[in-house]
Amino acid sequence: MSAPNIETIVSLAKRRGFVYPSSEIYGGLGSAWDYGPLGVELANNVRAAWWRWMVYERDDIEGLDSSIILNRRVWKYSGHEETFTDPLVDCRECKTRLRADKLDDGKCPNCGSKNLTEPRPFNLMFQTHVGATAEDDPDALVYLRPETAQGIFINFLNVLNTSRRKLPFGVAQIGKSFRNEVTPGNFIFRTREFEQMEMEYFVRPGEDEQAHQEWVDACHQWFQDIGISRDNLRLYEQPKAELAHYAKRTVDIQYRFFPEREDQERNWDELMGIANRTDFDLRTHSKKPEDAEGKRLNSDSTEDLSYFDEQTKQRFYPYVIEPAAGVNRTVLALLMDAYSEKTNDKGETRVILKLHHSMAPIKVAVLPLAKNKPEIVGMAKAIKRSMQPLVRAVYDDTGGIGKLYARQDEIGTPFCVTVDHQSLEDEAVTVRDRDTWEQERVKVSDLPTYLLQRFSPGT
Ligand code: ATP
Repeated sequence: MSAPNIETIVSLAKRRGFVYPSSEIYGGLGSAWDYGPLGVELANNVRAAWWRWMVYERDDIEGLDSSIILNRRVWKYSGHEETFTDPLVDCRECKTRLRADKLDDGKCPNCGSKNLTEPRPFNLMFQTHVGATAEDDPDALVYLRPETAQGIFINFLNVLNTSRRKLPFGVAQIGKSFRNEVTPGNFIFRTREFEQMEMEYFVRPGEDEQAHQEWVDACHQWFQDIGISRDNLRLYEQPKAELAHYAKRTVDIQYRFFPEREDQERNWDELMGIANRTDFDLRTHSKKPEDAEGKRLNSDSTEDLSYFDEQTKQRFYPYVIEPAAGVNRTVLALLMDAYSEKTNDKGETRVILKLHHSMAPIKVAVLPLAKNKPEIVGMAKAIKRSMQPLVRAVYDDTGGIGKLYARQDEIGTPFCVTVDHQSLEDEAVTVRDRDTWEQERVKVSDLPTYLLQRFSPGT
């Protein structure tokens, strides 16, 4: 089957409670989305898998949760106040606002006019004010963070000193970021409020290139480990002209988000970026005037964020490798990749969401064959309760068994457990597999072990 486009996923997501348009009862809010009962489970599974992989399964990474609102000077010295901008143009005909760097042929995509203003920089950071001060008080101005990374850099010494780490080591963070995007859109692909999973890996200068390549390979593999097919992923080497001013090399992991676009190059877009940020960040936030050209001298910071190497007795600023992924784009890629259709014996087409077991919002659905038979219902509810400490399980009796199976397939539940009349006699249930629709009879007492064996690793 050809890959679904985003519209198919938007409709499934809304119908089944993964993602809803935000503030809908008040007419919505452009490109804002709310995660429903299944969406929050899926996003939680993404966060948990990333955290487990990044922090628990390694020996060299610590976690962090920094503030969303930071001292404004963080964004002054990081360069965001000056350079975190997109080139904005206005269409003089229809007044649409556009990003100059996304216009393929210099024409307004809304009305086709070429009568556009000159590009001017538009800063993407959302502003607000802290405290009960006047809105125009410059001392009260703060920003909602546009990335989680800076919260890590400013805590470099705190983590270093409290965890007694030596290079190389990393600090991981998951959290919301905010960008006043000029052209948000494509469902949860580009929104103004989104969530990042970032890790800053500090290494000795000279060891940066190898570490960078290792993280590119590891991240590429991670997306496959959570079930995204390799064919729909590709590595994109950012050309020198595209690189951020601080970056030595950046590789994006792209997903085939837009399979319907005729120009094949435009089928792909960024899921994650892995940047070699050099020593820019720790240097720029340090109080020492280290820059050779006299630029970026920091007279506001109270600390020097350099590192003293006990072995070589040298002091230097570590280089940073940054794998930065989006929770929301990962959720979208998972939904697109898992989407499939299958026709049953009756010729009816069913949607099956073939999510990796570890990502499935619900792992087991326990279904009674007859909901008017108290013994069957009681047994089914007891089985659901016994599953609860192990996995996310649900009980559902709101339809005939065919409908119940179809509903679970559509949301990606790997296994349905059905309790029938015979179950009362033989203490056994039917376990149905989402992908093959094959059924097996399993003793209730064997059920936990049976399911745990059948779940994919990492579930
Ligand atoms: P893009 O070029 O698509 O704007 P970016 O290169 O600015 O993205 P980064 O700053 O590298 O993005 O952020 C890391 C990750 O955060 C991205 O790979 C993406 O998954 C996610 N991300 C960034 N901006 C958004 C957004 N507006 N909406 C949803 N996710 C986002």
